[in-house]
Amino acid sequence: MLFVITGPSGVGKGTLIRTLLERVPQLQLAVSATTRAPRPGEHDGVDYHFLSDVEFDRRVLAGDFLEHADYSGRRYGTLKSELDKRDVVLEIEVQGARQVAKEMPEAVRIFIAPPSEDELRVRLIGRGHETPEQIDARLAVAKAELAAQDEFSHVIVNDRLPDAADELERVVRAAL
Ligand code: ADP
Ligand code: 5GP
Repeated sequence: MLFVITGPSGVGKGTLIRTLLERVPQLQLAVSATTRAPRPGEHDGVDYHFLSDVEFDRRVLAGDFLEHADYSGRRYGTLKSELDKRDVVLEIEVQGARQVAKEMPEAVRIFIAPPSEDELRVRLIGRGHETPEQIDARLAVAKAELAAQDEFSHVIVNDRLPDAADELERVVRAAL
């Protein structure tokens, strides 16, 4: 089974997925590839496969990616080799989720939505990973992503974290 979890940056995807993986241990999170720099505490091969632009391009041409997309000036993609695992979770942005829908229509696609755009800004600022310019860029992308949520069969509003975590677990267990 393949689960695609998407939604704007800062909405809480990573937080919710951490809880989901604890509650449903058979799930495995795919490690994406990216050309962005590691954040403090991130490790190559664990959080991401950190690739140079040249290496990313080489692997695109080699047909190694299930999907890939540009996001906020950097490149991100799911390597097909990550799908060798069983019951895989992808945490990806919306363009990539659309590509997966085409390639693997049987995938369960879940959109995580914020209670409001203001709350999304608060969370992005509170996380403290990005500069104010990067936050503005991510919020601009978020507007387009929020407009796409109707494309997803499951939409979970991450307002109270425990409620959203319960709902995500319910959707996943129902599919399994
Ligand atoms: P994403 O992976 O979607 O970019 P994160 O999981 O990193 O988002 O969450 C962004 C920030 O919002 C983090 O600081 C996280 O602790 C916080 N957060 C996540 N869910 C909630 C929630 N339901 N209510 C308040 N803050 C939340
Ligand atoms: P971040 O830089 O915050 O780790 O991720 C930025 C965005 O890239 C997030 O929306 C995240 O879901 C998305 N992303 C992470 N990995 C992938 C991937 O493999 N493919 C695609 N399309 N998006 C990804």
